Amino acid sequence: MSTYPGSKTYIGRFAPSPTGRLHFGSLLAAVASYLQARKSHGKWLVRIEDIDPPREIVGSAEAILSDLATLGMTADEPVLFQSHRFKAYQQSCEQLIQSGLAYWCGCSRRDLPATGIYPGTCRNGLPPGKLPRALRVRVGDVPLSFMDRIHGEQVDDLQSSIGDFVIKRADGVYAYQLAVVVDDAFQHVTEVVRGTDLLDSTARQVWLQQCLGLPTPGYVHISTAVLPDGSKLSKSMDSDPICRQAPAEALRAALIFLGHEPPAGGLASIWHWAIENWSIARLSKDHGIAVDLGNLAGK
Ligand code: GLU
Repeated sequence: MSTYPGSKTYIGRFAPSPTGRLHFGSLLAAVASYLQARKSHGKWLVRIEDIDPPREIVGSAEAILSDLATLGMTADEPVLFQSHRFKAYQQSCEQLIQSGLAYWCGCSRRDLPATGIYPGTCRNGLPPGKLPRALRVRVGDVPLSFMDRIHGEQVDDLQSSIGDFVIKRADGVYAYQLAVVVDDAFQHVTEVVRGTDLLDSTARQVWLQQCLGLPTPGYVHISTAVLPDGSKLSKSMDSDPICRQAPAEALRAALIFLGHEPPAGGLASIWHWAIENWSIARLSKDHGIAVDLGNLAGK
């Protein structure tokens, strides 16, 4: 069981971005994080990551929360909205600037190499003629490692894989990497359970935790659901919304994908079985084919 320093309680969370309704991929992260928390007799929190207005779809935060409620998942504390947390993100940016770990970069998209690895152009000060645009954090020059409970030890040399990365964008939006780290610490999250699409981001988050003097939670990255042609499911695509008419079937499909086959039954009995039988040892490292939730309800 993973606990926060000074706390005896397991705290897990589900942190959707309001870019569409809950789809099969996000349902998996919700169910897996919920069951880890319930199995550990801990708390399960929900955080709406609404920091990037251009990507958001109006009404989707409410729709996600209502889908979770229909499925029988209620958070143990009031839902945290990242749009209410800008002051905390700003304070962390200032902390990093003051400690010399963050600097202003004047590069526009056009100035950056196609590799996406930042070459450090503004690391030692803005070149003449450039104005400050984005805030970047300096990465260390030694590989960083962390443990994932499914994928084992992960090692990432941030300098060669990504370079100094953006924590506040040129349009003033705080980067996901910064906000997620500040809020996981604020909410005393002890273990992060989410999709493998975020495994690559984790080293950046661990680095930021180290720079800000924050503890590193445990990590569990569950395999991602893909479409039958192998392409990625995404909330911003028009993927299948959870059918309100068939929450038990949707939950059952998610559990089967996650390696747990509950006996047939209603929502309450499936949850009861799932909490008793949940084990991350049953989760596969490989991608699986997403279930068309629309079909479950006979649509
Ligand atoms: N907000 C992110 C998403 O919806 C997930 C963040 C996380 O779990 O760390 O993809």
